This record gives sequence, structure tokens and C-alpha cells, in this order.
Amino acid sequence: MGRTLIKASHIIAFDGVGHRYVLDGHLVYEGDSILYVGPSYQGEVDAVIDAGSKVVSPGFINTHVHMQHSPLDRSFVENGGSPEFGGDTLIDFLMPRNRVMDPSMRRVCTEFSLAEVLRSGTTTCVEIGDDIDDLVDLVPRYGNRIYFAPMFRSADWFSPDGLSVDYAWKEDEGQEDLDRVAGWVRDFDGAADGLLRGMLCPAQADTCTEALLLRARDHARDLGVPMTIHTAQSEYETANMVARTGKTPVAWMHDIDFLGSDVILAHAIYLSGTKWTDLPAGDIEIIAESGASIAHAPWVFCRDGMAMDSFRRYQQAGINMTLGTDTCPQNMIQSMRLASIFSKSVENDPWATTPADVFNAATLGGAKALGREDLGRLSAGAKADIVIFSGDSMNMVPLRDPVTNIVFNAEMEDVETVIINGKTVLEDGRVTGLGDRAADLHAEMQKVARKVWSRIEGEDRLGRTVNQLSPLSFDCWDGVADGGV
Ligand SMILES: [Zn+2]
Repeated sequence: MGRTLIKASHIIAFDGVGHRYVLDGHLVYEGDSILYVGPSYQGEVDAVIDAGSKVVSPGFINTHVHMQHSPLDRSFVENGGSPEFGGDTLIDFLMPRNRVMDPSMRRVCTEFSLAEVLRSGTTTCVEIGDDIDDLVDLVPRYGNRIYFAPMFRSADWFSPDGLSVDYAWKEDEGQEDLDRVAGWVRDFDGAADGLLRGMLCPAQADTCTEALLLRARDHARDLGVPMTIHTAQSEYETANMVARTGKTPVAWMHDIDFLGSDVILAHAIYLSGTKWTDLPAGDIEIIAESGASIAHAPWVFCRDGMAMDSFRRYQQAGINMTLGTDTCPQNMIQSMRLASIFSKSVENDPWATTPADVFNAATLGGAKALGREDLGRLSAGAKADIVIFSGDSMNMVPLRDPVTNIVFNAEMEDVETVIINGKTVLEDGRVTGLGDRAADLHAEMQKVARKVWSRIEGEDRLGRTVNQLSPLSFDCWDGVADGGV
């Protein structure tokens, strides 16, 4: 592959402690790693990318994605879920939707997602899904760095009366699923030149028994892989866990010795001591002491009227904060922007949760959560996971502070080049692995969505049509628009 030099007016470099701006700098990479970042490089190189006025940034680490399903959240779940479940979309929207999907639909979603995350400058994703086969096939083509975390659980949610959530327990099945997943991880961890890595994902705190979580911990230790689990993501989860164990989900996981620095807690919104519960404080401190990280996906909650209380508070308590997208759009630029502005609003403080804070969460925070000191930074020895943003687009000029422009102004179209493991996977804004089939993939996505929407109608517990379940913004109308002007 040779040695490549990137010259640019702004490079966001890592000085060993934090990010710094190198102005009119050089970055050199060879093979899958960065060799040099700093002022003028004096050594020989084989190729030069003259990035001119552009901004060279570390790639983003998205610590919570559901590639096999999330593209189908678009145009369906954004306007609120079931009133009976406080607007939650899991029971009436996502579970029936996922049930009616077949493997070919999941593959279209996966391919769409792999392209979408690259388009928005994400180089590493924690993918929480079901099937490994599509990733084994597609990751070498698209070149994403993926931590695959297949879910397993001891119970399924269901609603016996449309008013409450209950649990159908299946302890043996959960344990068998875990053992099978651990076997997969053993087989594929490190595949595709190290791009495909494994994780363990006990699905949710409220759907897993103590025995399952402790068995997962043992497997994770044997395999040397991190873990992630959804928790404190709904009112009914916290209420059920308090009724079942006398503790919050976080306190319970801590007391059974599940938490640790190798665990990423997804969401963690309904923590004790926050405005989202009336339980006495303690959860934030427990997480900070345990060393566990939080994957914060702001959009999926703030679109339902909920904001984390708050990013700054968690960060100041010492929690390693990371960012994810969870739903669509799978766009880390949006995730950084929303995390910052919602924290400022919750805190009523313009200086809360700065662009630097959320940029750190999207890079160094994610790397720490995955135990990877070679990701999320541009410095010698780090993996060559590099994003080049436009420096002269309408969103990016005037340019003085690149990270503020990226967090508050950039759109995914400003991501011009993405390099992962030293390989260019997005060039001139085009996803290399897609070739010329971008339009076809979009058409396939639309076709899959139409099929899913029609199948959902047969699945709804109240026999609702898809438009009754998720009302259109405006009613369809067959009149002639000839009045009122
Ligand atoms: Zn999730």
C-alpha cells in the first residue's frame, strides 16, 4: 500500500492526553497505521493527498447501532410510540416490526447502514444485531470497523393487557444463545484484517437473570472482549426491576458484580437521582466508580421529549461518556450536536457540554470503552482511521475552530474522504464499496419498507393499520387544490 502523506490546513491531532489543532500540518500513514502527525514531514512517501483547506479528523466511534433494523425506523417511529407505554416504541412498533422482517430485509438494512455510517464519518461501530453472516460478507467490501454484539436474553417482553409490560421467561434458551454467541465470537473475532471484532450483549438489564449476566461475564473474561447492555431506558424497566429486586437496574447489576470498565451501558436515562425517576440518588456514582461507560444516543430519547439529566452531570461525576445513534439517522454528527445542545438546555447553561466534550465522547470516549488506545485519535501508532471534512463548503466557512464547525454546522455531505485501517472507503463523498449501486440500494430500501409496513398491519395487537399506529403528518386527500388563494 506504500506510505501516504496527507497535507492539510487543519489536523485534529492527539498529543498523548487530548486533541490539539495542528495548522498546516502533515499526517503520514502506512499499511493500517499512522506513522507521523505534526509539522512538515521530511521522510520519503509514495503518495500525497493534498487536502488544502480541509479538516483532517479522527473517525468517529459509534457505540450503539442496530444496523439490521434502524433504517426502517425512518418515517415510522419518529412521532412517538404508544401512549400506554409513555410513548415507548419497543412494544408496539419495534418488536412487531422486527418479527415480520426476514433475512433478505435485514441484509438490505445492514448494507444501507454500513454505507450510511461511512457517509457521516464513522469508522467504528458497536453493532447490536442478530445475524453474523451478512457482516462477514459485507465488512470486507465496505471496510467498516465493526464490533458485533449479538443480543441474548432470559425473557421476552410482552403486554398481557395493552397497559403493562410483562416478561415471558426462557432461562435455558438465554443460556444456550449466550454459549452459541460466545462460540461465534471465538470464530470471527479479528476477521477481515481485524476489522470485525466481537462483543457480548446481554440484551437488557430487565430481560436477563443474574445467572445469565454472570455467565456472560465469565465468557467475556475468557474471550477478552467487552460487553454492552441496554439499561435505564424506560419507566417500566425501572419499575419492574425495583419491584423484582428492590433495586434500580444499575444498583442490581453492581451488586451482582456485573459492572466493570469493560461494560458499556446503553442509554442510562432513567437513573436514580435524575428528573426521570423519584428514586434517591446513587446510580450515577455507582457507574462512575465501576468504570463502566455510557453509550448516549440523544435523538431516540429527545424526539420523545426526554433529555438525559444530564450529559454534563454524568461527565462531571467521572463517567466515561460515549455516543451512539441507536435509531436513524445513523449520523454521529447529529448525535454530537444533539448531545451538546440538549445538555446546555437541561443545564440552562451555554457553557455546558461543549463541542470539545462531545467530540471527545465520539472519539476518545468510544476508544476507551472498547479498550482501544489505538482508535479515536490521530497520532503515531494509532490505526489509520481518518476522516477528511470539507474546509470550504457553505457549512464549513468561515473556518476558525474546526471542531465547533463539525459539531454545530457540518452535514454528512461535508465528509469527503474516509480511510479505515489505511484503506480509502469513501472518496469524493462516494462510498467505495457501493460502486455504482447507490440508487439501487435506496430503491431496495424503499421496497423493503413498503413490505414491512404492510406486514405490520397483520401483527398489531389492536388490529390497527400502519397509518393508525403511526399517523401521517397530514391526511392523504384526493381533492383538487384549487381553493383559498
Ligand atoms: Zn439499542
